[in-house]
Parts: sequence; structure tokens; C-alpha cells
Amino acid sequence: MINFTHLTKRFGDSTVFSDLDLTINKGEIVVIIGPSGTGKSTLLRCINFLERADQGHIRIDDVNVDSQTAKQRDILDLRRKTGFVFQNYALFSHMTAKQNIAEGLITVKGWDKAKAYEHAQQILDDIGLGDKGDAYPAALSGGQQQRVGIGRAMALDAELLLFDEPTSALDPEWVGEVLTLMKKLATRHQTMLVVTHEMQFAREVADRVIFMADGGFVEQGSPDQIFGHPNDPRLQRFLKQVG
Ligand code: ATP
Ligand code: MG
Repeated sequence: MINFTHLTKRFGDSTVFSDLDLTINKGEIVVIIGPSGTGKSTLLRCINFLERADQGHIRIDDVNVDSQTAKQRDILDLRRKTGFVFQNYALFSHMTAKQNIAEGLITVKGWDKAKAYEHAQQILDDIGLGDKGDAYPAALSGGQQQRVGIGRAMALDAELLLFDEPTSALDPEWVGEVLTLMKKLATRHQTMLVVTHEMQFAREVADRVIFMADGGFVEQGSPDQIFGHPNDPRLQRFLKQVG
């Protein structure tokens, strides 16, 4: 089981969000939508301690971490259970696609190089880039780079994959292939928490959609409920704006 409780984050005097609770079931795909600046990225970053929350617990299976008191060892335990896919890929530019995917297996999981590279090749085949293992990121399209970014997260076999607007930095022509790969993961019941502006993806793939605004979870439900029967006026306004 994956959950966080009472999660609160402040920057100086300003509270980004407070007292957030969420439980994500195994295999569930939860999509978070909401206006810019509402704290969606900060929330994902707090879940895997790229940012430290001011208060709250984060639990993934047997790892239960207190945001305030977590030591580096607890944070590493938690990070081993999560994979993070960033908006801007964040690939290592001096490493090939295969090295990028193998890197976490070597450094986080302690695999030897040969085994890590073999697994990285399987992942490359799986994400449709079997012949691009020796290419450096600069020689790949935006969509291909982001698929490698997802492949890197997949390789670690994480309990939870976190996606922060994985398609918003892409040229429109590359968005489809990345969403297709995410849908493929969804059919394998990979647990995912996805922040996205892609409402169509949310409608098609989410088990649950959460509308975040004003530092809280304002409304949540199935895609049918959220898109078909929104209750809160802020959600209704937001959906009109994003069309
Ligand atoms: P977007 O949809 O534009 O990506 P978001 O919902 O992801 O927005 P965040 O990036 O989480 O929003 O930012 C939430 C708030 O926290 C914003 O007001 C932002 O300015 C502030 N913020 C984020 N990071 C920091 C930081 N390191 N220091 C101070 N304030 C920050
Ligand atoms: Mg953001």
C-alpha cells in the first residue's frame, strides 16, 4: 500500500499545501490536475524527498517515513520504491540511452555492469528503442528522450512511478508516443501518480482524478465524475479554461 498523511509544505511564510492525505492502491493510476502554481510539482517532489515536506508521513509498503525526521537512509529506502519521470527528461547528456537506463541499476540496485546493460537492452526493446541503445540524448528526438526517461524509471521496477507533466515540454508531434508508452504501463497495472495537462489521457487512463487547487485536494473521483459531473465551481472553471 502507498499512502501519505498530513502532508504539509511551506516555502517561508507561504503554505503551498497543508494536511493532504492520499492512499493509492496497488495498480491504481491517479492523475492530478489543477491550475499552475497550485503545488502539484511540489507534492510529487515531497513524496520522494527531492523537497522535504514540513510535516507528514509517507509510506510505501514496509517503508514508512516521517518527513520531519527522515534520515538519509530512510530517504534512500523510499527512493528505491519510486521512479520519477520529469518534464524535461533529465537524462545524463554524456551517457548513451543504454547507459542512462542502466545507471540506476548499477548505482541504486548494485547490479554488475553486464547484467545492468542486458536489462537496459530489454527495456529499450520494450519502449520501442531497441536500436537506439548507443545513441546519446542529443541524437534522439524529444519523444525518444522522454521514452528513455520513462525506461529509466521502469528499469528500477519501482512500486510507484511519479510523472510530472511528462509531455508538456514536447513538441506536439512527440506527445502521442509518450502517452502510448504510459498507457502500456497502465495496462500492466504499474501504480502511477501522474500530474498532467493532458485531459484526454486522464479521461482514458486514470482510475481516479484529483483536482488540486488552493493548497488542497478540492475534488476527486472517477474520470466520469470529474469531467462529466464536476461539483466545485473552481473545477468547473478550470475545465472550461482547459477546454
Ligand atoms: P505548474 O502547473 O505551473 O507546474 P505546480 O502546481 O506544479 O504549477 P509548483 O511548482 O509546485 O506548482 O509551485 C507551487 C508554489 O510553490 C508556487 O507558488 C511556487 O512559486 C512555489 N515554489 C515552488 N518551488 C519553490 C521553491 N523552491 N522556493 C520557493 N517557492 C517555491
Ligand atoms: Mg508543476
